[in-house]
Amino acid sequence: MKTKSWKKDKVEVITLGCSKNLVDSEVILTQLKGNGIDVSHESGESNPDVVIINTCGFIENAKEESINTILNYSKAKEAGLVKKVLVSGCLSERYKEDLRGEIPEVDEWFGTNEVSKLLREFKVDYKKDLLGERVITGAGHYAYLKISEGCDRPCSFCAIPLMRGKHRSVPMEDLVSQTTNLASKGCKEILLIAQDSTYYGLDLYKKRNLSELLGRLSEVQGIDWIRLHYAFPNGFPLDVLQIMRERENICNYIDMPLQHASSEVLKKMRRGSTLESTKELLGKIREQVPGIAIRTTMMVGHPGEGEKEFMELCDFVREQRFHRLGVFTYSHEDDTFGGENFKDIIPQEEKESRADELMAIQQDIAFEMNEELVGKELMVLVDSFEKGIFVGRTEYDSPEVDNEVLIEPGEDHLRIGDFAHVLITGTEGFDLKAKIQNR
Ligand code: SF4
Repeated sequence: MKTKSWKKDKVEVITLGCSKNLVDSEVILTQLKGNGIDVSHESGESNPDVVIINTCGFIENAKEESINTILNYSKAKEAGLVKKVLVSGCLSERYKEDLRGEIPEVDEWFGTNEVSKLLREFKVDYKKDLLGERVITGAGHYAYLKISEGCDRPCSFCAIPLMRGKHRSVPMEDLVSQTTNLASKGCKEILLIAQDSTYYGLDLYKKRNLSELLGRLSEVQGIDWIRLHYAFPNGFPLDVLQIMRERENICNYIDMPLQHASSEVLKKMRRGSTLESTKELLGKIREQVPGIAIRTTMMVGHPGEGEKEFMELCDFVREQRFHRLGVFTYSHEDDTFGGENFKDIIPQEEKESRADELMAIQQDIAFEMNEELVGKELMVLVDSFEKGIFVGRTEYDSPEVDNEVLIEPGEDHLRIGDFAHVLITGTEGFDLKAKIQNR
């Protein structure tokens, strides 16, 4: 009996949510391409034959966006514009049994750890020899390196362990070979991502091994910038700071989601840290890696955050002057500790006004810091060319989430993926303006 071959069909992958989901999509792309299937990522292909929607299920807004995307393609299928709709990722992992009945147009639902099963929809198998390979969805000069999956932490508000499971470190050899492969394709910057990057190694090597991993990755030829994301404050392995200080190609940058500063709220969040321990850690980070840029994320509106606790958070942000800061409002997630034990009594408007107030404090700090850079020379990595100017980032900025440098083109012919020395000539909100410095 002749089986349908999918080799001729156009497959489109859509990624929602975080950079970890993007890496999962890149693994799916790599496997489909490696099996000769014509697949693209968010190419805007009008009527692909098959759509794979890699969803996010983190908080309310993200879930809504995922559902809307699924419904859009379900309507396209009903209209005969798309043959097949497949859904994977966190929302599917968490709610696929409910959603299967609610959206019957979807052909199949896959969990966060079911790539092999998804590939069988195309009558192909998972190719182990493609492990070190990775199709990069972006311009290719930077790439995310997912060093572990899942999380063992008990944070009250977080549903990620429900969707991603327990913490599993990726073997160091695999990460070194992935990075070597990425560098051979022209990648110059790798961004280490995980749910909790500081937990790296505790399962596989029975010790926190992030510093050794950073050391190994910094020896890979061609990698000029290594950036650390998702560092958990409690139990932070201080030896990471030493390797950061010693290695030129490990960015003076750390993304450390703190979530709050009030000891009472941190306790309710089950973060295992206090205002004092947080200040002490930040002090050590700044002392041991002078000039380091610290990015953090705060959450407002968590149960137990009264006016006093929120004021404490505002004072803390004013005092600590983070380089980069993002703010989330608490989302009351079912099946989480918070969802089962707390009452979500703070009105959404109040949560949003607190988020605005905190971002206003941060904006003043960010603008002041930008002003201090005018007249300085910095190294930037060029990410794109838009509306006649080059857009780049300094060592202190991560793609997609942080500030940019707007570079007026000079005589020098710059290309995307080039490093360039620039002189900061001005500021534009959170961004910097610059011109190329001839070297
Ligand atoms: S560290 Fe906490 S917030 Fe982060 S993924 Fe784990 S449980 Fe969620």
